[in-house]
Amino acid sequence: MSKCEVCGNDYDKAFEVHMGGERHVFDSFECAIHALAPHCAHCGCRIVGHGVESGGSMYCCANCAEQEGVSGMKDRV
Ligand SMILES: [Zn+2]
Ligand SMILES: [Zn+2]
Repeated sequence: MSKCEVCGNDYDKAFEVHMGGERHVFDSFECAIHALAPHCAHCGCRIVGHGVESGGSMYCCANCAEQEGVSGMKDRV
């Protein structure tokens, strides 16, 4: 079977993620998030939910966007 590209685990229930025309293989969602999830431009945490986007930057929540000077943001979740 496929090997996880993050931790190298050879797992028979590994799954594929297709993103931006590339094929990735992971053994767990934790590894997939580690490799693919964007980072909040303010606090640096991984954005696993919807997040908010403004001016090309991603934020984990409206509060972080506000602290970076983006006003009028609302959480969409
Ligand atoms: Zn892994
Ligand atoms: Zn944040």
